[in-house]
Amino acid sequence: VNVRTRYAPSPTGEPHVGNIRTALFSWLLARHHGGQFLLRVEDTDQNRLVPGSVELMMEALRWLGLDWDEGPDVGGPKAPYVQSERLGLYKREAARLVQQRDAYECFCTPERLDEMRKAQQAAKLPPKYDGLCRRLDPAGRSARAAAGEQHVIRFAMPESGETVLHDLIRGDISFQNELVGDFVLLKSDGFPTYHLAAMVDDHEMEISHVLRGEEWISSAPGHLRLFEALGFEPPLYGHLPLILGKDRSKLSKRHGAVSVLAYRDQGYLPEALFNFLGLLGWSLDDSTTVISREQFIDHFDVTRIVSNPAIWDTDKLDWLNGHYIREMPADEFGRVLEEQLERDLPPDVPRPLDPPVAKVAPLVQERIKLLSEAAPLTQFFWAEVHPTLDQLLGKRFKEEPGTAKALLEKSLQALDGVEWRHDALEAALRALAEQENVKPRDLFGLLRVAVTGAEVSPPLFESMEVLGRQKSVFRLGQAVLTVG
Ligand code: GLU
Repeated sequence: VNVRTRYAPSPTGEPHVGNIRTALFSWLLARHHGGQFLLRVEDTDQNRLVPGSVELMMEALRWLGLDWDEGPDVGGPKAPYVQSERLGLYKREAARLVQQRDAYECFCTPERLDEMRKAQQAAKLPPKYDGLCRRLDPAGRSARAAAGEQHVIRFAMPESGETVLHDLIRGDISFQNELVGDFVLLKSDGFPTYHLAAMVDDHEMEISHVLRGEEWISSAPGHLRLFEALGFEPPLYGHLPLILGKDRSKLSKRHGAVSVLAYRDQGYLPEALFNFLGLLGWSLDDSTTVISREQFIDHFDVTRIVSNPAIWDTDKLDWLNGHYIREMPADEFGRVLEEQLERDLPPDVPRPLDPPVAKVAPLVQERIKLLSEAAPLTQFFWAEVHPTLDQLLGKRFKEEPGTAKALLEKSLQALDGVEWRHDALEAALRALAEQENVKPRDLFGLLRVAVTGAEVSPPLFESMEVLGRQKSVFRLGQAVLTVG
């Protein structure tokens, strides 16, 4: 078969990492088989629409490199790919089902449904529509509907027997039909529910495989029966495992960002998030962690998706991100870092950045896990520093400000006339430490704070080389004044 998969988000907010994991798996399945990946906007719940969310979702997919072959912006043979532009189709199919007696008009008011639910709860019965309107005379129902009485269309679910879902990930699951209930296909506002619209579209768009969240499992028997009533072949289903935080509760804001774009803005690389999401429920071989895009495509296989929950491990994501940062070719890292710094450095830092980012990049590439760590670490190259007396003295020279001052002055002398290269700087200052009988790390710690304004920085001598003689010497001189 030609493998066609789709990502079918409801545009109700930021692109959630869980949904994008679904998109990623669907994309991989299509790419592995050389099939098509479609994007379909499921905007049938008019109350929950958030303007702009379709654009954000596309931005997230593009950032991760998940391209689509058919969709709202690129079109395709099954257009339109936005459900609110396909309402006529759903109405026609709903009417056909009513005519076939596989669906019926239901006139129950929200108040009645509410009472029914409460009564069921009180009697400890599973919640489902009690079928009041299903038992009305069909001619009477259609007359009331024709007269304009408010109604929904419900699916007439078989009231007995079983429906078996052959899940690609979980194997066969059987359901008692009587527990499913008559779910709504078409709402009173004329919009379809997910159940009707997604099933009709998966058929119309010739979707072969549907990967979706595990929360849809209980709806699956209804969906299979609906396909049968429509006379369509259902796609193959795989219900993806939940994503939980490390504390085993459902992934939420408490565990960190849940929007893919927030990860981008925090300085994660798309390669790292791609790799990480691809391992949330799928594995290559139980041991490999670093997997390239090409390897994912080559090896992706639904039979290696597991059903038990996947754990969102931020440490692993950070580790992967550090790995992909280190792996980047130096010039590419320079470009990415420059973009990040342009965003993160305060606006009053003079542009264009001097020294250029390309010179600074090699000093941090091995040292950061997140691009967002770069600005605080490197800001001293471009902005003045004002270390306080306490910072300069630190623990080591707290009681000996005189020693610190003398060391700073002698450092200035030692640097006078030295070739401004990190190895020469290091040699001169190591010699000074020996001569002054002070531990090199204590001396270098003092100089580090003086030059970079911080106790933690990229390597001192390389930093001084890039910062330049003039600025470095100026900062050491300032430190002398602060300490003195
Ligand atoms: N619109 C549904 C959602 O966002 C899609 C579920 C599916 O993939 O079928 O949850």
